[in-house]
Amino acid sequence: MNPYYKDYSEYLGEIWPGIKVQKLSIDAGFSCPNRDGTISTGGCIYCDNRSFTPRYCSASDSISEQLRKGRDFFRKKYPEMKYLAYFQSFTGTHVSAPEILERMYEEAVADKDIVGVIIGTRPDSLPEETIKILERLNEKTHVIVEIGAETSFDATLQLINRRHTWGDVEGAVQTLADRGIDTGLHLIAGLPGEDESMILETVSRACRLPVRSIKMHQMQIIRNTPMHRMIERGQLRLKPYECQEYLDLCVKIVNRVNSVSGRRIAIERFVAQAPPEMVVAPKWGLKNYEFTNLLLNRLRDQQQD
Ligand code: SF4
Repeated sequence: MNPYYKDYSEYLGEIWPGIKVQKLSIDAGFSCPNRDGTISTGGCIYCDNRSFTPRYCSASDSISEQLRKGRDFFRKKYPEMKYLAYFQSFTGTHVSAPEILERMYEEAVADKDIVGVIIGTRPDSLPEETIKILERLNEKTHVIVEIGAETSFDATLQLINRRHTWGDVEGAVQTLADRGIDTGLHLIAGLPGEDESMILETVSRACRLPVRSIKMHQMQIIRNTPMHRMIERGQLRLKPYECQEYLDLCVKIVNRVNSVSGRRIAIERFVAQAPPEMVVAPKWGLKNYEFTNLLLNRLRDQQQD
């Protein structure tokens, strides 16, 4: 717990008081409607899913096997630890038939050490049948849905080929909240064409929704993505954040989240780290916890000013 904003451990402690919980990422073999032709085949221009899927995840293992391997890794050090099954790769609600989805989630929660499920998805991949499955699951365990929103500006969403709108995000969050399911929003800072005021406006808009957490990261240019090729061909201009500049922005984001939400909303993280060989820019050479420490120092300095 830190004194400057509600961090993710404080948030998890509210839901699972008194127990240490750890996310275990699962690759359940989901696809993405923005890649498999359901909506489009191009995908978001910045996306290479390998950049945010942990290397230890393999869809060739069953869900229960992936969870067992993840748990074994932590068990030696933290025998009392409990776990959250994290359907992270691609779109965690996108399957050909709803019964397949329910079976996958059921397989995860059958493990006695799994105390919750986190599902990453798109705002347009939550049809009523899926919401009903999530509701049933939420009666057995605690469900958190992480929605990829990225920005609240439709022109940017169009430019990056997200193929959904901010209105879709608002609708999905409200539907989940009405059905008693916790929601977090994923946002990206530094998308093409967006300046600081737009990023902070997106944070404000996100914090006015009934979400419990936001999760940010800096725009990273990943090698051989459509975005990388567009930049190389001169079709797109993008100046990734320098580390110090991004720290300044993150201080403003914390202040904005606290002022709009009154510390109601947790900030899960500020940075992402794709494998270094995949990243064209920025290359800060910092681990996530090192960035967080720098930010906490900045926030402490701000309080002392
Ligand atoms: S970022 Fe998500 S929605 Fe976009 S192409 Fe990649 S997996 Fe699909």
